[in-house]
Amino acid sequence: MGKRSMDDLAFGTHNKRGDFSPNARPEIAPFWAWPPQAAKTLKWLPSYFWPWNAFYLATTLAYWRWIIPDAETMKTLSWGWPLWLYAVNACAIFAMYGSVELFYYVKRKQGARFKYNAKFPADNPSDVFWFKSQNIDNFLRSFLIGIPCWTIIEVAMLWAFANGYGHLVLWSEHPVYLAVLALLAPMIHEAHFFAIHRAIHTPFLYKWVHSVHHNSINPSPWSSHSMHPVETLLYHGVALWHLVIPSNPILGLLQLHIAGFGALNGHIGFDKLELTDEAALDSHAYSHYLHHKYFEVNYGGDGVVPLDKWFGTWHDGSKEGEALMNARFETKRARVNAKRGNAAS
Ligand SMILES: [Zn+2]
Ligand SMILES: [Zn+2]
Repeated sequence: MGKRSMDDLAFGTHNKRGDFSPNARPEIAPFWAWPPQAAKTLKWLPSYFWPWNAFYLATTLAYWRWIIPDAETMKTLSWGWPLWLYAVNACAIFAMYGSVELFYYVKRKQGARFKYNAKFPADNPSDVFWFKSQNIDNFLRSFLIGIPCWTIIEVAMLWAFANGYGHLVLWSEHPVYLAVLALLAPMIHEAHFFAIHRAIHTPFLYKWVHSVHHNSINPSPWSSHSMHPVETLLYHGVALWHLVIPSNPILGLLQLHIAGFGALNGHIGFDKLELTDEAALDSHAYSHYLHHKYFEVNYGGDGVVPLDKWFGTWHDGSKEGEALMNARFETKRARVNAKRGNAAS
């Protein structure tokens, strides 16, 4: 062994199977608190931007500068520019998700430290997956279905703006409005995701659409875009809100990058990614990890818009969260049993 590694027991506990659970629970964004908590909100604010949302903003600006064709080209649907966008999206996802996969799942540079589920998908072949492999199945579904559907929404949004649909707002006219809308984009994402995700958890849509994504009970990076085409179209469809509200195509693109690149967050599988002996990157993955584990909790993200809290489906991984969830499952069971009883009599 070379250098010492980080001690994850300073940040949480392992159960007897070795699964890690963090001491710091996911928390609702403090600006929702009443009475207002100014100090806490100010302390929380940097984590809203840094590093993840700042990264999605950076990729959006880079795309706008170097990747997105001019409006004249995008007026006409052809094969050229949409295939170009697919190629860039696919390469970017391959580089970003692939590097997490390579270092933390293939080379396993930090072993199972900070890992919510101590097992690695590659060690557990299962019949639910193509070729019995979660990795191959999830990888193929991402590149054959997930990323093409993302690109379809991207092309539709850009084509619509280029042809004068939607209410185009220019930066030279309303910079403050557009800047505020950019700040709200992660919240639009979370509200949209909660709504479509809750909808595909209804029995019929779950069985037909969403069960594909839930095959991965122990998600890893390639699970992020492993979805049924209906789900991935609904998921990336969040960008189309920018054709409904007064907006600008660059914000539609930002919205897509929060969805497309940001899907990784919930599926990293580790609470922290160790970068050096002392520095680590917070994944923000815990609440969605719990969703993959328990299914009927945490339909939204990690509490930027606390819809799960308001609808009673929030689970922060604590004993209290567990008790609330079990009480809810108990009520549901009782209701189902009562119905069965009535039907029998
Ligand atoms: Zn997921
Ligand atoms: Zn789900």
